[in-house]
Amino acid sequence: MNVVVIGHGMVGSRFVEDLVARMPDARVTILGKEPEGPYNRVLLSAVVAGKTDASMLAMSAVDPARASVLDGVHAVHVNRAARTVTDSRGDVHEYDRLVIATGSAARIPDIQGIATDRGLVPGVSVLKDLADAQGVLARLPKARRAVVLGAGVLGIEVATGLAARGVAVTLVHHAGRVMERQLGDAAAGIATGALHQLGVKVVTGASVAGALERRGTLTGVRLTDGGEALTDMLVMCAGTIPETALARRAGLPCERGIVVDAQLASPADPRVFAIGDCAQPPEGGTGLVAQGWDQARRLVDAWCDGETAAIDQAKAGLTDVVRVKASGLDVVTMGLSGKFDHGDRELRAVRLADPSVGRFVEVVVSNGLLVGATVVGDKQCASELAAMYTRAIPVPADPAHLIVRPLAGASPAAAAKNVEDLDDDATVCQCNTVSKGRIVAAIGDGCANVADVAQATRASTGCGDCRTNVQRLIEAHAAPAATTTDSGAAAPRIPALAG
Ligand SMILES: Cc1cc2nc3c(=O)[nH]c(=O)nc-3n(C[C@H](O)[C@H](O)[C@H](O)COP(=O)(O)OP(=O)(O)OC[C@H]3O[C@@H](n4cnc5c(N)ncnc54)[C@H](O)[C@@H]3O)c2cc1C
Repeated sequence: MNVVVIGHGMVGSRFVEDLVARMPDARVTILGKEPEGPYNRVLLSAVVAGKTDASMLAMSAVDPARASVLDGVHAVHVNRAARTVTDSRGDVHEYDRLVIATGSAARIPDIQGIATDRGLVPGVSVLKDLADAQGVLARLPKARRAVVLGAGVLGIEVATGLAARGVAVTLVHHAGRVMERQLGDAAAGIATGALHQLGVKVVTGASVAGALERRGTLTGVRLTDGGEALTDMLVMCAGTIPETALARRAGLPCERGIVVDAQLASPADPRVFAIGDCAQPPEGGTGLVAQGWDQARRLVDAWCDGETAAIDQAKAGLTDVVRVKASGLDVVTMGLSGKFDHGDRELRAVRLADPSVGRFVEVVVSNGLLVGATVVGDKQCASELAAMYTRAIPVPADPAHLIVRPLAGASPAAAAKNVEDLDDDATVCQCNTVSKGRIVAAIGDGCANVADVAQATRASTGCGDCRTNVQRLIEAHAAPAATTTDSGAAAPRIPALAG
């Protein structure tokens, strides 16, 4: 069987790796527009913040002996009648099955003066790929001021990262409060206070109307509220748009993303599948890597075992936990958060707001389960609530207990406080859906550091939020002599960036 995969990003690479392992007879070709091969895109904001080196982002990829890997080569045309894909070099690849994993593109707002026909003017950028990160880092040595447009999760990560590097940051946001999709007024107010503490000036209710430039280089921005801000760089974090152009040209139904059914196949063509950020499955796309990796796994299972690729609702974890990866600012939301209908009689919501210490916690309980939470400024509380939420653990009828107990440091009644106390089937790595039991088994098989566990189970290879818990499990379960500190060793295939 000839399989062509378009897109060698986080999801396409995972799919091909798993497919060749399970279906050695398949002849697989993967086309990747980016020259570097797959890397952990999730950590690009950490690279900008100086917390991670770009050389550490390389992800494991398929053995080139097992598949035809064409990095730096993009697909330009899909001919569904002939079942071929033409690439940017003019080569034609035949397929029996085609998997589109083209990801998403950064949304570029309509701002006067940010682009010429040669692209964005120097100093203006988005943060979507390694080249973008490289551009931001290259500008840093001379940059004293930055404007970040968009105070969603990524905008906040970029703003705090640049501020930590000593740049004076103005964060401009069109809505009346930061992260308005996840946070209500009180939580957003506390998060904004924390941003100020970190040296980020927040301007809400305004956007960037135009770029001011001198001799082709950005010098400032004009805001829609009439104000101006001098700046050396403008980083636009205004959301993403699923990359559907190729699929649309091939006549595949697309709405926001490439429409696929529960089997991840296009309703117009059972030989064409879409996974990852470019796909629009029946349950909707989240833009989070856990969903794409789950789709990759399900598609391989379906092809190899003849199973259905549809989500097993009984097994599916709740993956809509949103975490801001910013130093000095902890914001975590899950399920119902922000503005939702408090009037629903089935819901009980309780909140604690403590602006003087920058803390906000809200929990929403329905029928004995935690169905939503918002936590600002309390990492431990957030991780406990996330454990209860994703594992659907029955919680006390009075939601106040959920807030008071973790904040008071009391022993939890329903949730396991430490990872060591979790049941074996509890998920430790949300991005890769790896259970505690699998991690402990890998440690028993000789994994002595986080990198070993990552190699054996893939835990911690996504957002990295679970690394501390993996380390704790190693300390609790490894034979003392076998434990080593994490080398984090992934073969560095990406050249180190400046900064
Ligand atoms: C800065 C940043 C921070 C993020 N933080 C998080 C986070 O904390 N948690 C989380 O879950 N998610 C996060 N994400 C989102 C996460 O990175 C994506 O969900 C994930 O990368 C999706 O994988 P994908 O393979 O679908 O798309 P991508 O990883 O975007 O890969 C798609 C690939 O396809 C290539 N391509 C496009 N068109 C073609 C073509 N015609 N031919 C060949 N190749 C093509 C692209 O160049 C790209 O290499 C973040 C993203 C960014 C940019």
